[in-house]
Amino acid sequence: MDRMENPTAGSKKRMALHTKILLSLVIGAVAGILAQSTLGSDHASVQWVVTNLARPAGSIFLNLIFMIVVPLLFSALVLGVSEMGDAAKIGRVGLRALALTVLLSGIAVGIALLAVNTFKPGAGITPSERERLMATYAKPEDAQKRIAQSEQAAKGADAIVELIPKNPLDSAVKALEGGLLPFMVFALIFGIALCMVEAEKALPVTQFLEGLFAVSLKVIELAMKLAPIGVFGLVFSTAATLGVAAFVALGKYALLVLGALLVQQFLVYGAVIRLITKKNPLDFFRQIREVMLTAFVTSSSNATLPTALRVAEENVGLPRRISTFVLTVGATANQNGTALFEGITVIFLAQVFGVNLDLGQQLTVLLLAILAGVGTAGVPGGAWPMIALLLVKVGVPPEAIGLCLGIDRILDMSRTVLNVTGDITIASCVTAWEGEKREVPEMAAG
Ligand code: ASP
Repeated sequence: MDRMENPTAGSKKRMALHTKILLSLVIGAVAGILAQSTLGSDHASVQWVVTNLARPAGSIFLNLIFMIVVPLLFSALVLGVSEMGDAAKIGRVGLRALALTVLLSGIAVGIALLAVNTFKPGAGITPSERERLMATYAKPEDAQKRIAQSEQAAKGADAIVELIPKNPLDSAVKALEGGLLPFMVFALIFGIALCMVEAEKALPVTQFLEGLFAVSLKVIELAMKLAPIGVFGLVFSTAATLGVAAFVALGKYALLVLGALLVQQFLVYGAVIRLITKKNPLDFFRQIREVMLTAFVTSSSNATLPTALRVAEENVGLPRRISTFVLTVGATANQNGTALFEGITVIFLAQVFGVNLDLGQQLTVLLLAILAGVGTAGVPGGAWPMIALLLVKVGVPPEAIGLCLGIDRILDMSRTVLNVTGDITIASCVTAWEGEKREVPEMAAG
C-alpha cells in the first residue's frame, strides 16, 4: 500500500513530511501565542491575518480531505464488510475472528470513553475562549445549527427508521452535515449484499471499489503534501485565539491517548492472550516485537502486513490457513487502536468546543468509532477523514481536527502498533479455539 509520504527522494535527503508538519505546528503555535500575548486576539492586524491568511490556508487543506471522504468511506466500508462477509463464508474461523474483532473494538472504545470522560482533557477552556474558538473555526450560525440538529435528533423508533436511508445519495450529500450514519448503514447493506451475489457478478464491482479506494487514498496523499501549510494556518488561528490554554489541553489529550493505548495493548491483549491461549503474555509480546516495531515506524497496518504474516508463522507458530486470513482481513477491518483514538479525539474536541454529549450521543460515538475502525484505511493518518465525519455528527465543526493534526504522527505510530497487535492477538485466539497445534520455535521466543 502506498505511503502517504515520500521522506527521501533521489540522493538528496529531504525533510520527512511528518517532521515538516511538526515544525509548522511549533512555528504556528509560537507565532499565534506571541500575537495573542503581545497584541491580543481582538487586535485588527491579528484578526486580518487570521481571516485572510491563516484560516483560508487551513480550510483549503481540510476541504481537500473532506472532498474525498464519501468515496473513501464508501469503498473502504463496502470492501471491509464484504471481506468480513467472505470470512463468515469460510465458516467458524471467520465468525470467531469477527466476534473477537467486535468485542476487542468495543473494549477499546469503552476504555477511550471512560478515560476521556474521567480526565476531561478538553475541559480547561473558559466559555469566552470557547466562543472565540467557535467563531474562528466555524460561522457561529453553522455551529448553532449543527448543535441544534444533534439535539433534535429523532428518538426511539424514529431514530431507527431514520438510520435506513430512503435515498442514500441524499445522505451522501449531507454526510458532512450529519447524514453520515444512514450513509454508513447503506454501505454496510451494500457490502453484505455484495458478498452474497455470484463471484463472477461481484468481481467488477469489487474491482471498481478497489480502484475507487486507491484513488481516494491518492487524493488524501496529495492533500497531505499541503499539510505543513494547512496545519500552520489552523494552529496559528487557534493559538492567536486561545493562547497557551489550547496547548495545555492538547498535551493532556496526547498523554491520555498514549495511556489508554498502553492499557489496551498490555492489559487487555495480555489478559486475552493469557485466558484464551494460556500463553505467557510477555513471551507473546517478545515474539511479535518486530511487528510492533515495524508498525511503529511505518504508521501503517498495510505496510506492516508482510512482516506480520512472516512473524505470525515463524515466531508465534500460527498455522498459515488461519494467520493469512485473519491478518489480511484485519489489516483493514480490525483497527482497535484507531477506534480507541477516534473515541478520545471526538469527545476531547467536543469538550474543547463546549458541546455536551449525553449518554445516548456517547453511545452513538461508541458505535460509530467501532464501525470507523472497519472503515479506516490502514495508512498513516487514515483515521482523520472518519474523525471529521464523527465530529459533524456530534455538532463540532470538523475544522477542529486542525488542533490535533500537528501532534498526530506520534499518536498515529502508537495506535498502529495496537492495530496490528490486535490482529495477531485475534489470530492466536482463533488458533487456540480451533485446537490447532502451535509449534513455537524455541529460538523465536527468546
Ligand atoms: N495509521 C493507522 C494504521 O495504519 C490508521 C490510523 O489510525 O490513522 O493502522
